[in-house]
Amino acid sequence: MPSTLQHLIDANRAWAERVEREQPGFFKALAQQQTPKYLWVGCSDSRVPANQVIGLAPGEVFVHRNVANVVVHSDLNALSVIQFAVDVLKVEHIMVVGHYGCGGVLAVLREQRVGLADNWLRHVHDVKMRHRGRLMHLCAHEQEDTLCEMNVIEQVGNVAQSNVVQDAWSRGQPLAVHGWCYGLKDGHVKDLGVTMTKPDEVVDVFRTAIKRYPRSPDAKPGSSDFPV
Ligand SMILES: [Zn+2]
Repeated sequence: MPSTLQHLIDANRAWAERVEREQPGFFKALAQQQTPKYLWVGCSDSRVPANQVIGLAPGEVFVHRNVANVVVHSDLNALSVIQFAVDVLKVEHIMVVGHYGCGGVLAVLREQRVGLADNWLRHVHDVKMRHRGRLMHLCAHEQEDTLCEMNVIEQVGNVAQSNVVQDAWSRGQPLAVHGWCYGLKDGHVKDLGVTMTKPDEVVDVFRTAIKRYPRSPDAKPGSSDFPV
């Protein structure tokens, strides 16, 4: 193992020189301010880099990533990112981006112990339990893809219900929350059809999205399909 990361420093210098050669003044202009229109809330997985996936340059997307793209109301880190993006940067779109084959989601479905992260993944486990009637009759592969998508939908609901987003909507600030799932196999993003743009459509959009996943004929309807 090399004791330094000189190869990465060298790669950085080559990249910076190429960018500056192609767009003279790029870094100087970017250093003055950032005006991204988008906030990406995604998984930490190394295979899902925000800028590359949607073809955006530095300065064009604000990013928060954690294991399994979870947004919970007690996570001061995620909430601070959302607050800064919405109130200060005035982003117009927040996309929660999960991905198929997510290691966090697979660990939950396979009931594998990871360690400390088990506590974090408990949030994904809660999603699995809440929608088990729409999951457990599926084969393993279908369960994996479906829980990846359902986890995104739940987190879109959490973002939409955060006081930051609710307050932005109440003062008329244009802001949409989207749910996407990224395919590692083909590099394509799938829009999960759960876009929310105002408070009074949150519940209906959420329920409509979840109902796209049929219940098992044996499952008893749950008392709540909505995480409130
Ligand atoms: Zn992941």
